[in-house]
Amino acid sequence: MTQPLLSIKNLTIDYIGENTDFRAVDNVSFDVAAGEIFGLAGESGCGKSTIAFAISRLHKPPALIRSGQILLEGRDVLDLDIQALRSFRWREVAMVFQSAMNSLNPVLRVEAQFYDVLRTHQGMNRKQARERTAEMLRLVDIQPDRMSDYPHQFSGGMRQRIVIAICLALNPKIVVMDEPTTALDVVVQREILQRVNELRKKLGFSVLFITHDLGLMVQVCDRIGIMLEGKLVEQNTAQEIYASPQHDYTKKLWASFPSLHGSKTAEAFAS
Ligand code: ADP
Ligand code: MG
Repeated sequence: MTQPLLSIKNLTIDYIGENTDFRAVDNVSFDVAAGEIFGLAGESGCGKSTIAFAISRLHKPPALIRSGQILLEGRDVLDLDIQALRSFRWREVAMVFQSAMNSLNPVLRVEAQFYDVLRTHQGMNRKQARERTAEMLRLVDIQPDRMSDYPHQFSGGMRQRIVIAICLALNPKIVVMDEPTTALDVVVQREILQRVNELRKKLGFSVLFITHDLGLMVQVCDRIGIMLEGKLVEQNTAQEIYASPQHDYTKKLWASFPSLHGSKTAEAFAS
């Protein structure tokens, strides 16, 4: 076995309360291989975002990591100092959040938002940044000449693709996508995830994809972990999670998606 790209080991995270602490993540372990899409599913409140924030060290009090390790290529993210963290974010781990399409600055042209990231993290000048911006926009099917437009001139789905393109511009090793498309309609969601899937095959990054929509997840992920109340209760290949769920909770999750657990999903696996 080669070393996994990301290895979460026995991660436990509490939210510290005045009287009692709340255990949001309870002894969770999983690996994400290089180039793999790993999905984390489970209903709202089960601890998915808490894990996502911890991976990029964006968690803040009252969240407290009690124990465990978050290893990226063998290096513990939890040991990084401020300086190391700055280059770690974006360059190694990029985050796409639920409200990502609204995370673009409305008063700046798209070009300027790419430039901001490319100058800060890679010291690019305007000309270099413009070339890289054109290349990245092409990757997500947006005409490069639209880089001088403002965010409001794009549809929600296009804005989301722009955010993804910015995230990928620094060649991160892994992209953490926390419910990246829930604000979009189902067709657009699917298109975007298919695009991300193609891009990771081409560019080789890994994805940690978080959603409560198991039906969508099973179509794009290689492996899936199912979370329940802070615990990872089952993990397996997407195919097995679909075809022979082991844990009662996973079965229950499937039962709540009757229309998705049908021929369409089976077709997705046949291809
Ligand atoms: P998910 O992303 O799966 O919906 P979260 O990781 O956001 O779940 O939250 C996990 C649990 O932690 C939830 O029960 C939530 O109420 C609790 N939680 C989240 N943020 C805080 C906070 N700042 N303070 C206290 N509890 C929190
Ligand atoms: Mg969440």
